[in-house]
Amino acid sequence: MSNKAVILVVDDVPTNVQALALLLKEDYGIKVATDGVRALQLAGQDPIPDLILLDVKMPDMDGYDVLRLLKENSDTAKIPIIFVTGKDSEEEEEYGLELGAVDYITKPIRPSIVKARVKTHLMLKQQHDQLMAMATHDQLTGVYNRHYLVDDLSKRMSQSKRHNEALSVIMVDIDHFKNVNDTFGHLMGDLILKAVAKVVGESARKEDTAARFGGEEFVLVLDNCTAYDALIKAERLRSKIEALMPESIAVTASFGVAQLDAHIQQYEELLKNADTALYAAKEEGRNRVVLYEGKSNDIPI
Ligand code: GH3
Ligand code: MG
Ligand code: MG
Repeated sequence: MSNKAVILVVDDVPTNVQALALLLKEDYGIKVATDGVRALQLAGQDPIPDLILLDVKMPDMDGYDVLRLLKENSDTAKIPIIFVTGKDSEEEEEYGLELGAVDYITKPIRPSIVKARVKTHLMLKQQHDQLMAMATHDQLTGVYNRHYLVDDLSKRMSQSKRHNEALSVIMVDIDHFKNVNDTFGHLMGDLILKAVAKVVGESARKEDTAARFGGEEFVLVLDNCTAYDALIKAERLRSKIEALMPESIAVTASFGVAQLDAHIQQYEELLKNADTALYAAKEEGRNRVVLYEGKSNDIPI
């Protein structure tokens, strides 16, 4: 598989598309479209383009409309767009940039200018993606960090409430981890944390979030998942960790499970419920899963 950046070239005149494709195909993967509808289709399909060169003047749907629709779709909203057009009036350039294009190239195209601008914007996109990944992931374990988790959990809670769907969280805390550090050293502790995080991360479905919540604590956010299903999932994860033996060291973890109920407004409350259950799991002897039983007037969603 090639890891070349992919560029989508959109122009209603096939010879224009060909000229740009010819210019860029040596360095990049190229997708082409000669109308807006096809452009939108290709922009949302794997491989999602890293950059779009978009003609403004096209019959039916013009480039401005295509850009607006791309920005409305979360799968395509972040793809940088460069307008390539014969129109070179200042107002139009300004309008395109205001709508969210990153740059503007006028026809007739000058090959070296196109190449240079494409290269610059791909580099900026790559840097942006790297910074985003750093800002949202835990450096040691590679799973999402706490900052991302609270953001994600708040959003998912609103969504679940709006659509009347179940949402559950599992809080995971490694047992006696201080002993592991004290006995085998901090570096070994780090390796074990990584190994456990990997198993926690792998247990998440594509639509779930696995995050490091604190030192040796992880949280799984499970969309569309009742407490009952979350319990089954947590039990499976518990036995996997017990069997893992990272670095040949026996490690177990305790689990608290809680489901969103109608009274809960803030993400902190849901996490607190999971933490209460986790505390009970520790009290009852560790290496076990406990469900937050709640108060009698709780109404599960
Ligand atoms: P319990 O079963 O009650 O959870 O006991 P515990 O020892 O796991 O809990 P405690 O909260 O007392 O200690 C957590 C330990 O986790 C202490 C801390 O040194 C260790 N820890 C936290 N973050 C890291 C890390 O990034 N790397 C390593 N190696 N250890 C860490
Ligand atoms: Mg612990
Ligand atoms: Mg802890």
